[in-house]
Amino acid sequence: MSVKWPDQSRTGAGHFSFEAILISSLSRLFLLAVFSLSAVAQTDRTIKLDLDLTDAPRKVLHAHLSIPVQPGPLTLVYPAWIPGEHSPTGPIDNFAGLTFMANGQNIPWVRDDVNMFAFHVEIPAGVTLLEASVDFLATAAPSGFSAGASTSPNLAVVAWNEVALYPAGTPAGEVKFAPSVKAPDGWKIGTALAGGTSDGTTTHFDAVPLDRLVDSPLLAGRFFKEIPLAPEVSPKHFLDLVGDGPEDLNLTSDEISQYSNLVKEAGALYKSRHYDHYHFLFTLSDSVAHFGLEHHQSSDDRVDARNFLDDDLKLINAALLPHEFTHSWNGKYRCPAGLATPSFQQPMKGELLWVYEGLTEYFGDVLTARSGIWSAQQYREMLALTAAEMDHRPGRTWRSLQDTATAAQILYSASSEWDNWRRSVDYYPEGELIWLDVDTTLRKLSGGKRSLNDFAARFLGKGGNTSVAVVPYEFENIVGELAALVSYDWQGFLERRLKSKAPNAPLDGIGNGGYKLEYSEQTNEMAHALETRDHGVNAWYSLGFVTAEQTIRDVLVNSPAYQVGLGPGMKLVAVNGRRATEELLHDAIRDAKTSKEPIELIVENAGYFKVVKIDYHDGEKYPHLVRQPNTPAFLDEILKPMADHTSAL
Ligand SMILES: [Zn+2]
Repeated sequence: MSVKWPDQSRTGAGHFSFEAILISSLSRLFLLAVFSLSAVAQTDRTIKLDLDLTDAPRKVLHAHLSIPVQPGPLTLVYPAWIPGEHSPTGPIDNFAGLTFMANGQNIPWVRDDVNMFAFHVEIPAGVTLLEASVDFLATAAPSGFSAGASTSPNLAVVAWNEVALYPAGTPAGEVKFAPSVKAPDGWKIGTALAGGTSDGTTTHFDAVPLDRLVDSPLLAGRFFKEIPLAPEVSPKHFLDLVGDGPEDLNLTSDEISQYSNLVKEAGALYKSRHYDHYHFLFTLSDSVAHFGLEHHQSSDDRVDARNFLDDDLKLINAALLPHEFTHSWNGKYRCPAGLATPSFQQPMKGELLWVYEGLTEYFGDVLTARSGIWSAQQYREMLALTAAEMDHRPGRTWRSLQDTATAAQILYSASSEWDNWRRSVDYYPEGELIWLDVDTTLRKLSGGKRSLNDFAARFLGKGGNTSVAVVPYEFENIVGELAALVSYDWQGFLERRLKSKAPNAPLDGIGNGGYKLEYSEQTNEMAHALETRDHGVNAWYSLGFVTAEQTIRDVLVNSPAYQVGLGPGMKLVAVNGRRATEELLHDAIRDAKTSKEPIELIVENAGYFKVVKIDYHDGEKYPHLVRQPNTPAFLDEILKPMADHTSAL
């Protein structure tokens, strides 16, 4: 999943303000949890799932399930723990109109009084098929992500877990579903599901195990385009686009070429593919929640409608597809043992999310630059912003990075206010810094002969090309793979960074890369794009707050703004006696540099006004990476393309 720079800027910088194969060399630990996503249940046990999207424009999905049963007590469960969301975010609160019928008779149900995701029924003698009807109310659930807003008048994105019920105690790989979809007239469909035969009104897909079904979302829309990417590469890749309007889908040939480069660069880096085909399900809409969710053979990628019409949005969202694509290898194929659970009811353990998400953030961003979606300079501006934010994170003195991963399930839904003190899902950005540190350390120790590219090929490409598969791992396997490349105390290296309570971020990767994090009055390109999108000002490294729409989003603990009593949610009313605008705030910080007068702000806190004076005279400050002469430019090396962008791999 990606949480980088979502629409509600959350922190100072506006950062995150976002089947089984057996391999003979697998370690004993791997073997403990390898399981099959393609196990096939008996055909006659297949659950038929018919989904009707004709009311999606008014936020209702109608589902009908035909469930093979035997007489006696039966408990049916609704998926709770959603892969990639690392939390029990199954939107059970939007499950409505549930009725069961058998042989024309209503079958009463009762919800479990402890487990809200379980329904008990008693199947009468002689009954072999239970018919369930249910509506999914596609209203944005508080949990967000795939349970967030997913429909508009002209499109719908379907996560199948929203409408699935299955017998309790059954592994998700062992219960088979035969899905079908009826979309509004004129809508087209994109999905990694195979089959897809239409009888005119309904599209029927091949039956798949439940885990594969939930792993294969579907998008449908009136304004739809399917663009083949890197057509010379096999297996095949597709960019499936839906938008609010036809103008949203007009990508230039350069933009399409860059996504084709991404397909080639991922192949060159990971030296493998673990899918039969891959679909980027790319929704460009202002009516849906914005995020990305990874799957083995597809990704659910959702951004602003005008993404390709607005250079700022394009820059901000550029790394989304590379991040989610990378997850097909890192997170889906190689999955931490604690997250590779056999059913959607079993709690997940997030302890290795600094690998699952941190390494994905690292490689996703690197691939964005190698593919030409970002320039090298844009990548460095992004990295400077990430590094600066993690380096101004007072919460790191009480909470380790490891704890943010362990506590992932309570952090995704936490408020963004004061998250510099709470800490958020920091294993994304700080994980990225740690993996840069690992990459540059490998290069340094081996005199440039070894790098994280080799680790990617060994660890993520293990076994070469495969179909959809899950190969779980533990912390020790990461250490072992690194040591196989360069002998070093990798366990100590990683543990020091994961357990640290130091006030400063691990920035050695930037130094080893030949750069230094510095601050200047010149704006940071990524920060500027976020300021424009959010109608705000990033004064995080100067006064110590960031605004959006004239409201203080957050205040940096111990900053000048903190010292005068400012806090998140306060409305900025006036700057030096004049009605506040973004321009006036920028001017006031700049002008104070040559003045002895403090900056005077009037803020409103829930109807109460307050005047504060901030005695700050250091000017505006934005982070940048500055090249350090006479040092190896490993960071420049890292961003160089590995694949030939003009021909097949
Ligand atoms: Zn992710």
